[in-house]
Amino acid sequence: MTLRLTDTRTGEQRPFEPIEPGVVRMYVCGPTVYDDAHIGHAMSAIVFDVLRRYLEYSGYRVIHAQNFTDVDDKIIQRAATLGIEPRELAERLIEDWLRDTARLNVKPATIYPRATQEIDTIIEMIKGLIAEGHAYAVEGGDVFFRVDSFPGYGKLSHRSLDEMMAGARIEVDPRKENPMDFALWKGAKPGEPAWDSPWGPGRPGWHIECSAMIYRHLGDRIDIHGGGADLIFPHHENEIAQSEAFTDQEPLARFWVHNGLLQLGGEKMSKSLGNLITIRELLERGDGEAFRFLVLSSHYRSPLTFSDEAMDSARRGLARLQSAVRDFDPATAPETAPDHALARIADETRAEFRAAMDDDLNTPVALSHLFELARAINRERDAGAPAAAVAYAQSVLKELAGVLGLTLETTTQRTDEAIEPFVDLLLEVRAELRKQRLWDLADRIRVRLGELGIRVEDTAQGSTWRRE
Ligand code: ZN
Repeated sequence: MTLRLTDTRTGEQRPFEPIEPGVVRMYVCGPTVYDDAHIGHAMSAIVFDVLRRYLEYSGYRVIHAQNFTDVDDKIIQRAATLGIEPRELAERLIEDWLRDTARLNVKPATIYPRATQEIDTIIEMIKGLIAEGHAYAVEGGDVFFRVDSFPGYGKLSHRSLDEMMAGARIEVDPRKENPMDFALWKGAKPGEPAWDSPWGPGRPGWHIECSAMIYRHLGDRIDIHGGGADLIFPHHENEIAQSEAFTDQEPLARFWVHNGLLQLGGEKMSKSLGNLITIRELLERGDGEAFRFLVLSSHYRSPLTFSDEAMDSARRGLARLQSAVRDFDPATAPETAPDHALARIADETRAEFRAAMDDDLNTPVALSHLFELARAINRERDAGAPAAAVAYAQSVLKELAGVLGLTLETTTQRTDEAIEPFVDLLLEVRAELRKQRLWDLADRIRVRLGELGIRVEDTAQGSTWRRE
């Protein structure tokens, strides 16, 4: 069996084969760093982490690039609200992202390019596109991509230009030749971060950075391009147009892989609805691994509904797997399967797990096989099976769970749960001390908690804490 993946561009599932044998070049669109990342971002990061882990498990070397959009209107606006430099805001949020995704057990990308560090390549591409008639500069220092020059425009979202125009909210700009033309370069407004260019000081449009990063770090064509389904149009459609028009090579990506979007109890999660859950909130509740389990329990291309009930059921499912390996000691696990029914069940589970994952990463089915193995381990252990057979089956369960990024470890979760009431109590006492203006004592609590890895933050609504 070999891995079969669904490619959004062709709409088909077909066997995965990389351009260079044994090596996978994968680019995944990362966050625009203007605010705390939320669980929708976490879902996408987990989906592509599992794809990467499975490719590595299957013997490939994976070069995984994930960008940070670190210059953009929203960053500039938010930084102004906070009274800090856009660069400072971006830097802080990138650090948060790296720490929070690590705590979600997402493997670090091989490369993390940032828009502001790719300006030379971006300018080189825009110059090339203008030279070939695919782009044009207008008054004000903007440069637009000429969609009419690229006959394949619409091949990813399977829409014609007319259909796109009917569905899109297009800003009227008389400088554009076609309303669907999009910005490659934006002339600088006063006070904004800007770089010199042949079209005057300005900054890149959003879409061009990904094309430039792929071109510079991974080459003309890549094996997998990933992101959330909300990026198909216009972002990925525009990436295809820019890259393929510039390199004259196609397809930019052999496989376009898109994850379904996360919904909050049936509603779209959005800042304007005030129902965003940040990754940090999730981690503070000790729910990192349970959330990964929730993501895995639905197929990556389907929308995922986040709710209290869904999280409860994910926690229970995770606990069932954890219970089967609670007493696991790797030192006692034999390398080869002992002659015992449980060991044979473990080996069959591995084969079934692979078959499910090969079927377009069917993680719900893969998980169901892990449950069967967990049940068999509990049953045989209770029935007095030899320690070696139990340990072997447990090692297989750990191995396969690991391919999904599940550690099945319970220690950190337990400590987090255990300390919560005590830290809350300390903060209550501290609030009282502050009321009585006993600042020294209040500060000592904050500093000592900091030394213990607990960061206290004082806001107008009171104090909050989180683990570092
Ligand atoms: Zn992108």
